[in-house]
Amino acid sequence: MRDDRAVAAQLIDIPEARRRGLEAVTPGPAEEVPVAEAHGRVLAADVRAATDTPPFDSSAMDGFAVVAGPGGELPVVGESRAGRPAERALAPGEAIRISTGAAIPAGADAVVPVEEVTERDGRVVVPASEPGRNVRRAGEDMRAGAVVLRAGTVLGPAELAVAVAAGASLLRCAARPRVAVLCTGDELVEPGEPLGPGQIRDSNAYGLAALAERAGAVVVRRRIVPDEPEATRAALAEAIAAADVVCVSGGVSVGPHDHVKPALRALGVEERFWGVALKPGKPTWFGTTAGGTLVFGLPGNPVSAMVTFQLFAAPALRARCGADPSATRARAVLDVAVARHPRREQVLRCRLRAADDGWHVEPTRDQGSHILTSLLGAGAFALVPAGEGELAAGERVEIELL
Ligand code: AMP
Ligand code: MG
Repeated sequence: MRDDRAVAAQLIDIPEARRRGLEAVTPGPAEEVPVAEAHGRVLAADVRAATDTPPFDSSAMDGFAVVAGPGGELPVVGESRAGRPAERALAPGEAIRISTGAAIPAGADAVVPVEEVTERDGRVVVPASEPGRNVRRAGEDMRAGAVVLRAGTVLGPAELAVAVAAGASLLRCAARPRVAVLCTGDELVEPGEPLGPGQIRDSNAYGLAALAERAGAVVVRRRIVPDEPEATRAALAEAIAAADVVCVSGGVSVGPHDHVKPALRALGVEERFWGVALKPGKPTWFGTTAGGTLVFGLPGNPVSAMVTFQLFAAPALRARCGADPSATRARAVLDVAVARHPRREQVLRCRLRAADDGWHVEPTRDQGSHILTSLLGAGAFALVPAGEGELAAGERVEIELL
């Protein structure tokens, strides 16, 4: 207990660790991405509308384009269809058949819906109409030249549709950060391999790689590294050369077989923090190379590795792309009381529920840092501040949406 307290004195809190991580981020390069491949990417430049949208005055209804005025019986002198405008202009006292989305013929300024007319022998009887009735104006949605999407926007379905309507075919996006995932441990085996005595499967590699992809990165390397100083150093050197962000799991503590920190020191990676007042995830290390590569030394325990990635590496990846690093932060009501840790902030894997008063969270099963299945069904991590006693049901807590 005394030891724990001595260490706690040097631990930094989560906001400080996040701040140090984000402070080290330099914006990555940008590239042109075809709209068909841009889903999920982050814009690196504003998008302006190339033309008015809609590009021309068009009809909101199927019906007849007319000159607004009193009703009467009018000859039908042509047709305007979607993609095929009328070939002639409209004179007062005439009607042109028109479809939804078709261009309003020159001279017309109103559309009478088909339901309101009687048609016979090439003529229509129309009621009175006001100017502008059922006319969608050019530029009502977007004005030519206006900024419609800002740099830093994540391109979801709505943003892609807007970009295309605005005339874009290539989008300037942040290049996906290249991430290397190294998992240290003599006990680790690849999926599909038989387990020998004392061996476990390398689940971190897959969980961390998926989290990296979800944060917008491309995983360029994934490797198991034996608990051996020279192999650790060589693997880290290679990873640093190949990636913008290196995540190494395990081997970061101070045991006789933990070689990550000495190897990083030998490679000249500058330590920016070591040890966070966090449970799970205390033994987390972060540093940077002279070339700007970020290196996250994550705990080997499977839940700790995922939690610390999400809290520290994911925001750094988003920031490198120019996106909001805190977009996944929210607040929620805690539905059950939880015991607090006296000195460390706890990260609870929680089920997430939307209620009338916002998000509610409730911890999933057994919260041990080796209980991977505690992540199943968890829609959020809840951050429970350090303190004595319990945090009561009904209290509001900060959450990280997953
Ligand atoms: P370490 O941080 O290397 O002391 O590892 C802490 C715990 O996490 C040990 O029980 C390891 O076996 C386990 N562990 C380390 N790396 C992995 C991994 N890649 N996948 C699953 N479990 C791991
Ligand atoms: Mg280990």
